Amino acid sequence: MKRDRIYSQAQNYNDILEWLKTCFPSPFSDPIMDSYFVHTVSHFLDHVDSLKGVAPILGVEEKPQLGQNASAKAGEQTRSESVLDPGSAMDFPEQGSSVEHVTELLAGYLKGMNIWAHPNSQINVIPPSSIPSITAFIAAAIYNPNIIWDEYSALFAQAEIEAISMLSHLVGYDPGKSGGVFTFGGTGTIFYGCKVGLEKALEGRGSVEGIKEDVKIVASQSSHYSHLNVASWLGIGTRNLVLIPTNQQSEISLTDLEEYLRRAFEEGTRVAAILATMGTTDAFGIDDLGSIVRLRDRLTVEYELANPPHIHADSVIGWVWSVFRDYDFSENPLGFRPRTLRALLESVQRISSLAKADSFGVDFHKTGYAPYVSSAFVVSDRKDLALLSREPEKMPYLYQFGRYHPGIYTLESSRSGAGALAALANMRLLGKQGYRTLIGHVVEMAELLRQRLEEHRFIRVINEGNNGPVTLFRVYLDQMEAREVFSREMSDPGYREILLQHNEFNREIFQEIHQKSIRGEGVLLSWTDAFLCANYPYGPPIASLKSFIMSPWTDEKAVDTVVREVVEARASLKEKMGL
Ligand SMILES: *Cc1c(COP(=O)(O)O)cnc(C)c1O
Repeated sequence: MKRDRIYSQAQNYNDILEWLKTCFPSPFSDPIMDSYFVHTVSHFLDHVDSLKGVAPILGVEEKPQLGQNASAKAGEQTRSESVLDPGSAMDFPEQGSSVEHVTELLAGYLKGMNIWAHPNSQINVIPPSSIPSITAFIAAAIYNPNIIWDEYSALFAQAEIEAISMLSHLVGYDPGKSGGVFTFGGTGTIFYGCKVGLEKALEGRGSVEGIKEDVKIVASQSSHYSHLNVASWLGIGTRNLVLIPTNQQSEISLTDLEEYLRRAFEEGTRVAAILATMGTTDAFGIDDLGSIVRLRDRLTVEYELANPPHIHADSVIGWVWSVFRDYDFSENPLGFRPRTLRALLESVQRISSLAKADSFGVDFHKTGYAPYVSSAFVVSDRKDLALLSREPEKMPYLYQFGRYHPGIYTLESSRSGAGALAALANMRLLGKQGYRTLIGHVVEMAELLRQRLEEHRFIRVINEGNNGPVTLFRVYLDQMEAREVFSREMSDPGYREILLQHNEFNREIFQEIHQKSIRGEGVLLSWTDAFLCANYPYGPPIASLKSFIMSPWTDEKAVDTVVREVVEARASLKEKMGL
């Protein structure tokens, strides 16, 4: 194709314009231009396909040095390194380029990307995206719906309402009363939850008058660090974020929570929101939301609180377990193994209290198998959204189609319709049955992994008692039973130095496995510097290897690979150490 030439020879802007029009999808029915578009996408896919090998990473031989490699250095990356990349300085180009050339250029940027669907990709809570959810993103990319209001987004606004309604139904909210919006990530859902709580605490004056006194947000020590962002950016201040201790299952301690709340209410301290984490990022700990709500209600009566704390469930990971609320666990029609069944049942017992929260968050780009970003904030009473409204008299909770103006109360102005449509696509594609299968499978594989790891006396699964797709484990050199070593690490201050040595040893194991996996052998795991801290004052952090299974392709063979890699890495390190 000689379109490049036409462009470079063009003198007059009209010539360039004519050429530029071929760079956009046609506004008119034009099968030739449509085929050109499809051809371009297919050309891109061909390029990326050529980057696939046996490794769970695209184009491993040419893996770039920045960004993707961060995990290889596990925590060694400094703050300035993550912000600056002086090597990538580029000038704004004078001349443009061709669609073909840019397509190849774009494909090149995929080098070094992890292939999340690969059976040996067990890195984090990042899913592969389903074809319909990708199509939803393409639809939004082509037609650019802006769900700031229905006028700019037509039925994309409807898709948002329908998706929120389905999520309400899923957890057991009354869809006639509930409401919600899609927003910029799980962090955004927490923003909304805390902002609603803040306005409740300040009786709706916060937006206009600002925050003039200390207002608290309460969460657990295992909660996601994005709460810090929220406290900071909402002007509440991170100092006012109260983190309650958690137990070894990463669940909030109810006695500590009660003690704190009583103290606060006695002193007349305002508590805007309590965040219950329903599925922690590192270990899949699930707070006892039902008890938290009962506690809040009890103390509200006892202390005669005019503005009780808003309870927001940070369920961005755990929400999808709600599909098991009506699974027949005794008949077990999907045929999960007993160990899987027990894990799913224990999780759903906690998750099924989601309907008791005043609001909750959903990340479809985590456990919903959709592209980034697709997050929903859902409130049990849509009138709560009016608290966020810039013009409350406009009654934003009027939800009749054709008068949908979420732009009155959303944090965003322009808001992409992609996330909502992708969420809708996956709920329609998968249904409860599909999600039960995907989630059931990843839990089954994680349970299998835990079982296989536990067969080795020198390995200790340290998020024992958690029932999700993530497994945290430590590997030891000693001949001593790993269980005993870990329990000493947790409790014995005299063992501090050894604990730190073990952290280092595990980091080396991680690196050994990681280096192999980017050569196409073995498995991609991840690493956490501080899963928890030893159980004594100023106890040091306990680091851990981490397997997060999300891929439908991860099978028993992939699970066995993890165990084999760990055993081999340990043996090779022992050899290097001359042991
Ligand atoms: C990932 C995560 C968040 C933040 O969500 P983003 O989509 O990354 O903004 C918040 N809470 C929990 C528990 C998470 O796992």
